[in-house]
Amino acid sequence: MDRIKMANPIVEMDGDEMTRILWKMIKEHLLEPFVELNTEYYDLGLEHRNETDDQVTVDSANAVKKHKVAVKCATITPNAARMTEYDLKEMWKSPNGTIRAILDGTVFRAPIVVKGIEPCVRNWKKPITIARHAYGDVYKNTEMKIPGAGKAELVFTDKDGKESRELIHEFDGEGIIQGMHNVNQSIASFARSCFNYALDTKQDLWFATKDTISKKYDHTFKDIFQEIYDAEYDEKFKEAGIVYFYTLIDDAVARVMKSEGGYIWACKNYDGDVMSDMVSSAFGSLAMMTSVLVSPEGYYEYEAAHGTVQRHYYKHLKGEETSTNSVATIFAWTGALRKRGELDGSGELMEFADRLEKATIDTIEEGKMTKDLALITTNPNPVVLNSEDFIRAIAERL
Ligand code: NAP
Ligand code: MG
Repeated sequence: MDRIKMANPIVEMDGDEMTRILWKMIKEHLLEPFVELNTEYYDLGLEHRNETDDQVTVDSANAVKKHKVAVKCATITPNAARMTEYDLKEMWKSPNGTIRAILDGTVFRAPIVVKGIEPCVRNWKKPITIARHAYGDVYKNTEMKIPGAGKAELVFTDKDGKESRELIHEFDGEGIIQGMHNVNQSIASFARSCFNYALDTKQDLWFATKDTISKKYDHTFKDIFQEIYDAEYDEKFKEAGIVYFYTLIDDAVARVMKSEGGYIWACKNYDGDVMSDMVSSAFGSLAMMTSVLVSPEGYYEYEAAHGTVQRHYYKHLKGEETSTNSVATIFAWTGALRKRGELDGSGELMEFADRLEKATIDTIEEGKMTKDLALITTNPNPVVLNSEDFIRAIAERL
């Protein structure tokens, strides 16, 4: 059989622990037999990040600017325990944070829906994609404990030294205050990423804030989205037959619960943090969640939403059998290959991505799955496979 050729490379970012093991198996059994893989390889495994003083992470992100499409394996974000475990020169920053800072994107997370793994919310028939703004608000806040009576104010000093003030509160006893900010440019690129992703995936876009209460802060988010939509996207949305819908955050939550799914829900930073955990656990499993970073310039980096599955890796090192779910990592690859095919006009590559996703879903629906899914499936007789046998079962179908 002739293998499918790739005209242009994708950036391949290898990672750590159990997901690094799955990465190799996926390439060997599911990709290389069918596709002449054309990748620019970067080893983001912690050892190599340490050897290169983390330069490899920066290089890999810059490579995405050149090739536009990347696929990333889960990576360790070092903490104190990892400093000793890997004998690190420094507590290197989170690779995802570094990559996001260079590409300036929005992260979209969507569940992979299969029969037999039913969402807790019965009327959810289609995936709900959460788009989380990844800059500012409470994540870059300044806080104070107020010890007793006194006046708290917001003060802004402009370049010429002119001050403007707003009273926060006249305290007559102990209390707390918090200052936070965002910048219009970041909100605008968040908006554009969401509108582009909605067009890409042909799904409606919902956005919600609390603009009735926060008349300047949240209202600015609402206004920037609306201005950009009216000026740049209204026609394109109508052509694609999709809708941009704005409402209040509490109304959005009520509507999400009663909906069928099948749309993108854009969330401010904190809302996205909280709601993505709710949506992913209600859909069944973190191991069935895809994640893609979309930059306003149109760069795409695909990955799984989960981490390196450290606990399973230690079992693997001891020679014990593991049953680690590779679905989200497989879908990271199919996402990247499909996007590469789309950009290069390669129908063959796009069709391969569709087939691999279908083979994966069919394998689970037929009853063959990893342990995490067997524990929650409505299928009365699931066959639990180990990490490699699950991938082999998909390969057989493919
Ligand atoms: P994790 O790797 O997501 O795993 C947490 C637990 O969730 C696992 O122990 C396992 O539960 C279950 N799980 C997650 N993915 C699974 C899969 N594919 N198949 C089966 N079960 C799965 O999170 P963590 O253990 O907190 O973090 C480990 C490392 O990952 C850390 O060093 C962290 O820095 C890194 N991390 C990286 C990323 C990223 O690169 N995007 C994201 C998050 C965390 P059981 O043990 O009960 O089976
Ligand atoms: Mg969270």
